[in-house]
Amino acid sequence: MVIHFFCCPPLTKVLIYIRPRKKIIFCTMPNPFESALKQLDRAAKFQSFNPDFLAQLRQPQREIQIAIPIKMDDGTQKIFTGYRVQHNNARGPYKGGIRYHHETNIDEVRALALWMSMKCAVVGIPMGGGKGGITVDPKTLSVGELERLTRGWAKALADVIGPEKDVPAPDVNTTPREMDWIVDEFKKTTNHPHPLAVITGKTIEAGGSLGRGTATGDGGYFVFEGLRERLNISKEACRIVVQGFGNAGHQMANLFFKNGYKVVGLSDSRGGIYNPEGLDVTAVDAHKKETGSVQNFPGAQNISNAELLELECEVLVPAALENQFLADNAPRVKAKAILEVANGPTTPEADEIFAARGIPVVPDILANAGGVTVSYFEWAQNMKDEKWTEEQVKAKLGETMQAALTAVWDKKTFLNCTVREAAFVVAMERIEAAMK
Ligand code: NAD
Repeated sequence: MVIHFFCCPPLTKVLIYIRPRKKIIFCTMPNPFESALKQLDRAAKFQSFNPDFLAQLRQPQREIQIAIPIKMDDGTQKIFTGYRVQHNNARGPYKGGIRYHHETNIDEVRALALWMSMKCAVVGIPMGGGKGGITVDPKTLSVGELERLTRGWAKALADVIGPEKDVPAPDVNTTPREMDWIVDEFKKTTNHPHPLAVITGKTIEAGGSLGRGTATGDGGYFVFEGLRERLNISKEACRIVVQGFGNAGHQMANLFFKNGYKVVGLSDSRGGIYNPEGLDVTAVDAHKKETGSVQNFPGAQNISNAELLELECEVLVPAALENQFLADNAPRVKAKAILEVANGPTTPEADEIFAARGIPVVPDILANAGGVTVSYFEWAQNMKDEKWTEEQVKAKLGETMQAALTAVWDKKTFLNCTVREAAFVVAMERIEAAMK
């Protein structure tokens, strides 16, 4: 019997083909908010947190669902559903991106908002956690339709966002262009002295920060270097696999390659490529720009995304979407360590398997916190009417990420728990202290 899994997160379904009977079964993928709550519960076992505090963390402080009617280019009207979830603001204004995806739903946004609260606390920035989204496939809209949709989202939420209230940012399928539209819309409805600070991830011309575009990858790279040292993996022996070749994954792969590491596997939504001798990431980038995919790269073997996750390597970097590691494939993962640049790539069931197998998983709330850290730097510059150089931004980012990894690793050693549990405990201690 051969079982093939075709898993396209963040879809909530998996197609399973079983031969020889060729049955097709649909299973539901884990609900990301339930996964986030399980992570919270596991961490809470290692520290005696106040039960009232834990109950508050389990429920976002505010959830907003909006209908956004848009005039389409052909004159018809379409109504889109948008969200903003404000999870916790004990440490500062809510902070978190806006995701455009046809599968985006309230549970996904809730989970991402909770993770943002944890992420901001882990890196010690004075921000809380929030997240937003619109259920839409942006590839099906014209630029004009996208602009009307984005401005519609901002207009409907103008009263609940703001530099001291809630500061959104880009996420999957949103870019500095969308952020500029939002800041423009916000300016029309407010007399705020620092309106640019309503949103981060803007273009430099509209008040964005130098270094924001590459911040998630840059931050992930600082964490990677610290992890490699702690695991005593030599640079020469370190083979790396990166899943996802978008904003975050592409920057990570670039940094690995430029710093002399062997990147043996890479993938995007169309599939992966493998070369045990190492891939020329700059040439793969040019190939993707020309053909639209990393696949069919000369000298590399085409592989599926499922195969990519099971390649022999020292460090595996999921940098695509959630629910990549399930109870099914976790036992076959051969990496020595996992660095979660994507949000939520590991289900709680897979996490248990990795813990039992002694594979450290550096969690998303630490590994990809470089993006929100530089977002905070952008907000701070806008609030103070300052402009920092790229060197200043990178130096502050490096200090922040290294301090966060040290705090988490020390906690892991002290509690004898997983890296994820330690990161949650560090974050929860800081949020609880702020709530007190
Ligand atoms: P992106 O849209 O720029 O890139 C996503 C990449 O993943 C693309 O290359 C896409 O082809 C690929 N992909 C999609 N489905 C895939 C699949 N099934 N298998 C393999 N590849 C697949 O998004 P991004 O901004 O790079 O974000 C990626 C992840 O990192 C998300 O989980 C996001 O929440 C997280 N993240 C991003 C940032 C940021 O600043 N960009 C910050 C924090 C977290």
